[in-house]
Amino acid sequence: MLKPCLNVFESNEGVNKVKCPACIDDQMQQKIFEWDLPSKSDTDIPVPYHNKYQLFYCAHCGHLYNRINEIQERALAEYYSIHSQRYYDASGCLLPYLCGDYPGSRHDTSTKRYDFLFNFFTKIPHHTRILDFGCGQGGFLSCLYQKGFRYLYGVDVDEYAIQLAKKNSPASVTVNLVDWLSSEHQGYFDVIVLDQVLEHIVHPRDLLVWLSSFLKEDGVFIISVPYAEKYLDSSVFPIQHFCLLEHVQHFTSSSLMNLLTSENYEEATTQAQPKFLIPIIATCSPNRFFKKESFQPKRLNYSLLLDITPYKRLFSEFGRFVDVVLDVVSQSTVLYWGMSREFYFIFSRTLDNCSAYFLADNNTKLSTKSFKGTKIYPPRTLITNNPELVKEALLVISAIGYEDEIYREALELGFPPERIIRPSLLWQELTSCASGI
Ligand SMILES: [Zn+2]
Repeated sequence: MLKPCLNVFESNEGVNKVKCPACIDDQMQQKIFEWDLPSKSDTDIPVPYHNKYQLFYCAHCGHLYNRINEIQERALAEYYSIHSQRYYDASGCLLPYLCGDYPGSRHDTSTKRYDFLFNFFTKIPHHTRILDFGCGQGGFLSCLYQKGFRYLYGVDVDEYAIQLAKKNSPASVTVNLVDWLSSEHQGYFDVIVLDQVLEHIVHPRDLLVWLSSFLKEDGVFIISVPYAEKYLDSSVFPIQHFCLLEHVQHFTSSSLMNLLTSENYEEATTQAQPKFLIPIIATCSPNRFFKKESFQPKRLNYSLLLDITPYKRLFSEFGRFVDVVLDVVSQSTVLYWGMSREFYFIFSRTLDNCSAYFLADNNTKLSTKSFKGTKIYPPRTLITNNPELVKEALLVISAIGYEDEIYREALELGFPPERIIRPSLLWQELTSCASGI
């Protein structure tokens, strides 16, 4: 059996000159997990980056983060600049079968998050100037407009998202590409919102230093990010949070506060919502708390820090999960349905063990793409052209977010349930067996 290389580190081997992106400490950084990703030549599917996944833990502030090299950082920037357009047809309608919770969308999942974030706005007067940095399609700006705010601005790096934001926002809302921010906006805004943005930023401290200059001295940052402390509680498939390769920062309450405040740690207001699909933590932190120059990491009370042991256990479980999948697909003809992040992160590493494999995705925009020379087809087209697949092949559902939908559609197409591999069930079986021992 061919096995991809997976390492969970117990010691601090191979770590030097690594700086925590949240607290800038360079003495207490630990590599905890390493995993090979496909290379650039493997596929033309848009992905955040290639080659190597490395997860680090900062024992100084409790932050988790993906270590990214310069090539990966450039790939990530390119990925963001074209992020939205592949989910929409030529008329700007969301392609069928997609969940719709994209940056700045007006989808239910997004609006629930906006409602939660709005808790921080109840005492903010309607005449304040608010900048939504990374506004995407402008969903949160529309939410603020409906609540009576009128001086609203949004910027993003994604040109297509900005086009949608302009189309869908009230006329008085100003939305533009990030370049629009200029010296004339120094000290201009009362509030800068970063909703689900900082986790995407390789150098979050540099971004905040820059943004802080556009904020009034008495202005505030309102920030919401995924909450890594709750990753393990929140999902039937917790490794999924790490498959989102574009989430390069995994904040904990201590690391978020360390990033935002040099002192007055307790005075920043923080609220968590652990029950969302991606658990989040949000904070309102005054600009004056944010130390711009000569920042020195604070000494933290170590009881506040993240316990890293369950995360290491998660990656060991992931190793066992990959072994089981390798075993299941071994010497079989396999249809992988769903060219998702999980496919890229996990299942693409199992292709070489199959005797033959086929690739399918419901997003028709992927029909021109391929993986290791194998073309990706819409599933119904693939099955019409290869009817024997329903009778013989194993079906691996390789998009966990759409597992139920794909399962239903596969049954409709005639796949017997015993030949459909549902990763979240497999994961649950594996982890409940392990905890039962
Ligand atoms: Zn740190």
